[in-house]
Amino acid sequence: MRVERKGIPISGGIALGRVVLLDRSRMIVERKQIDQASVSPEKERFMSAVGRSKAELLSIKDGTSSTEEGDHLHILNLNIMMLEDELLSSEVLGLIETEKVNAEWAVNSVLSRKSEKFRNVEDLYMKERLADIYYLGERILRNLRGTGGEAPRLGKDAVLVAHDVSAVDVVEYTKHGAMAIVTDIGASTSHSAIVAKSVGVAAVMGLEDITLRACPGDRIFVDGFSGTVILDPGEHELEGFRKLKSDYAALEKKLLDYAKLPGRTLDGREVRVNANIDLTDELGHAVCFGAEGIGMYRTEFLFTKSAHFPGEKEQYESYKNVITALDSPIVTIRTLDIGGDKFPAGMEPSRMLNPALGLRGIRYSLRDVETFETQIRAILKASASAGKKARILLPMISGISELRKSKEIISEVASGLGVGPSWAVGVMIETPSAAIMASDIAAESDFLSIGTNDLIQYTLAIDRVNEHVSYLYSPFHPALLKLITGVVDAARPHGIPVAVCGEMAGQLPCVPLLVGLGVGELSMNTHSIPKVKKLLSSITEKESKEIASASLGLKTEAEIRDFVTREVIKKWGGALPPEFIEEIVLSS
Ligand code: PEP
Ligand code: MG
Repeated sequence: MRVERKGIPISGGIALGRVVLLDRSRMIVERKQIDQASVSPEKERFMSAVGRSKAELLSIKDGTSSTEEGDHLHILNLNIMMLEDELLSSEVLGLIETEKVNAEWAVNSVLSRKSEKFRNVEDLYMKERLADIYYLGERILRNLRGTGGEAPRLGKDAVLVAHDVSAVDVVEYTKHGAMAIVTDIGASTSHSAIVAKSVGVAAVMGLEDITLRACPGDRIFVDGFSGTVILDPGEHELEGFRKLKSDYAALEKKLLDYAKLPGRTLDGREVRVNANIDLTDELGHAVCFGAEGIGMYRTEFLFTKSAHFPGEKEQYESYKNVITALDSPIVTIRTLDIGGDKFPAGMEPSRMLNPALGLRGIRYSLRDVETFETQIRAILKASASAGKKARILLPMISGISELRKSKEIISEVASGLGVGPSWAVGVMIETPSAAIMASDIAAESDFLSIGTNDLIQYTLAIDRVNEHVSYLYSPFHPALLKLITGVVDAARPHGIPVAVCGEMAGQLPCVPLLVGLGVGELSMNTHSIPKVKKLLSSITEKESKEIASASLGLKTEAEIRDFVTREVIKKWGGALPPEFIEEIVLSS
């Protein structure tokens, strides 16, 4: 029966294939009572299943090519460490001992208890750790049953359908040929989502009940751009999907042509088009999609992907990779923006009532000065060894004192290292107070970068991860445009560049608006870069200014959105590819 669902688009791509169901949540485990004499052999049976599971993970790790180092390898290591972790084993062994139950039941009970504990935790990172625990438990169960955790055998048109996937699942199934991944739960900041984007597999998450609807072998259509998933589509639809798929392939090719364009408007205004990256694995994409610089490397994933913060050496390696990847003077490393919806393992976000307003970004760094100093030392060393001036970007600055304190620490670390002034310090403008104080902040900074994701959240008082108020979340709100104008005007007399690095920078109808408001750098996910370059090459600064200035006279978000969409299509629609028009109309 045909079922259509709309989920969260995680990773772009179009797939038409057959369902392979990863049926974890329906694994049936029986409770069996054992006698005292069987306790020891049962414990041994469990431990040897753990041993086999570990051997399997090590062999997956061996099969990971050296070019795929970084995050995939790290996640595998993390899972191996979890298997070696005595806590999981000792809980299972304890249950076998005290309850005299079979190992399968003990494993299942420990997993259920852990999942109960995590169920009400809202933080996505913590939930993702739960997926990893399940993944491991599952592997152990398969080994206990003697069915082994052999590599999944996938046909060439396999689409993985699962309740949830761990980051390791994503790596493993993609390696074995999955053309797309769809899940019941999950969100775009989850660890598995980040890895799906980085390995380039189409993915849609948050489909709620897709595993209950799908049967193995069903035909399935996945659109990773819109988040649409259709099970058992009608014969008459297939032709349309195939066309979409070939259009997408053609579009990808065309995008690579646009990637070569300079970031410049038709009338010659330079607008640097930079990449936002979360993982160093994305550097290759940044190069091939035509990034003119790294506008923001979000370092928090380097910190939150394991239970321990990375040491100076590990950080140095990552920063050096980022600094040397592009032949560009612009390399921006954002210092740790932990908190909000990004927490490391072990931190309990649920205890904080308003994590977005809590110990986040620079507030955390100024509290845990040692971690901040280590990060700065790694950046400065990497930048000195590459002979390139790195831009250090400070997140969540809400006033001048935080900026001064941070600069003081940076200078102390630099003089300790004996390196000259080979860095620039910039401020993320993402709180209303920073936007209001922009002139004073600009006087003491080398550049500004407007983080519209948070600036919208804090200005409009809309939790950016709360789906119930997402209808209010918009880059066209007049208050936001006024703040951006104020920041650009404040920076001008100081002669420092102003960038926008929130999602807005990569949204087509927002581009002329930002250019018209005087923003000189746009930083975005790598995939949007070619599109934005093509759009820039078709528009003029002069007319963009007219659009921006007229928008500033409008009073509501809807008026601005409609006006901008209409004007962009009217002025430049004829010069833009039809897919662009579609995207502009869809976003309005
Ligand atoms: C922003 O807030 O706009 C931003 C770029 O930072 P992040 O999305 O990482 O909070
Ligand atoms: Mg932010």
